[in-house]
Amino acid sequence: MSRVGWMNGSLVDESKATLSVFDHGLLYGDGVFEGIRYYDRRIFRGDAHLARLRQSARAIDLALPYSTTQLQHALASVVEQSSTPDGYLRLVITRGIGDLGLNPRSCARAQAFIVTGTVTIVNRNDNAGAAVIIASTRQTSPDQLDPRIKSLNYLPRILARIEANRAGADEAIMLNPAGHIAEGTGDNVFIVRNGILLTPPTTDGALEGITRAVILELAATANIRTAIQSLSPLDLRTADEAFLTGTAAELIPIHSVDGLPLVTGPIFQQLEQAFRTLVRQEST
Ligand code: PMP
Repeated sequence: MSRVGWMNGSLVDESKATLSVFDHGLLYGDGVFEGIRYYDRRIFRGDAHLARLRQSARAIDLALPYSTTQLQHALASVVEQSSTPDGYLRLVITRGIGDLGLNPRSCARAQAFIVTGTVTIVNRNDNAGAAVIIASTRQTSPDQLDPRIKSLNYLPRILARIEANRAGADEAIMLNPAGHIAEGTGDNVFIVRNGILLTPPTTDGALEGITRAVILELAATANIRTAIQSLSPLDLRTADEAFLTGTAAELIPIHSVDGLPLVTGPIFQQLEQAFRTLVRQEST
């Protein structure tokens, strides 16, 4: 059965949602996006996603062709048409059609679309968590490209993911040029050390993840101490617990780093349960 998406103001059959080959989103990765989940047909943290989208668009001087309210309605209309109550969708804004030069001035109007689909982070089905490697491909330096911009340029992350594939791992952890942990290729990283939950600052190259923020909130509610601080590869390899967070990933425990085993511990389990409760609460 074909799925319903949204493009430039109207619901469309996804097979009919097409972009021009002259769109700079395709030619140069010039655009911004959000990956968003819905549970029981309600968008989870939609306001945060749309705020981040708007901020990313401003950062690249891209005028969003729709207001936040219009995008909220568009998202809701796609979710309403979905064949499943829970799912994942992608909201993408491209620079639009231009000439073959990279100058965005040749692009008259941004293009906007929403499609639904699935994402796979961990290839196995045994709930064992993720085997990760520390990639040799580094995250772009945060002073070259602010990691808070969620743009269509994912090439360094794709290269890191290819390294993970070659190593037979599920995900790659990327370091910044200074050798500190930035994030996964499409998720944020947390570790637990001596009962304290730690995650790198965005200034080390991490996206300001919405799930990351949710986990920090849930930890505060559960009286789990947290700190945002630089982490080294050694911190990850010797962590008491470690896990990934993201809209697509939700929460995934890390069960090994470069082949060295890690255990899934009590803090992960507590937060995972709190997260499940929260998404159901926010969707009723
Ligand atoms: N880092 C990167 C590079 C990502 O693409 C994502 C997914 N959006 C994340 C982290 C996790 O962010 P969020 O929890 O907002 O999905």
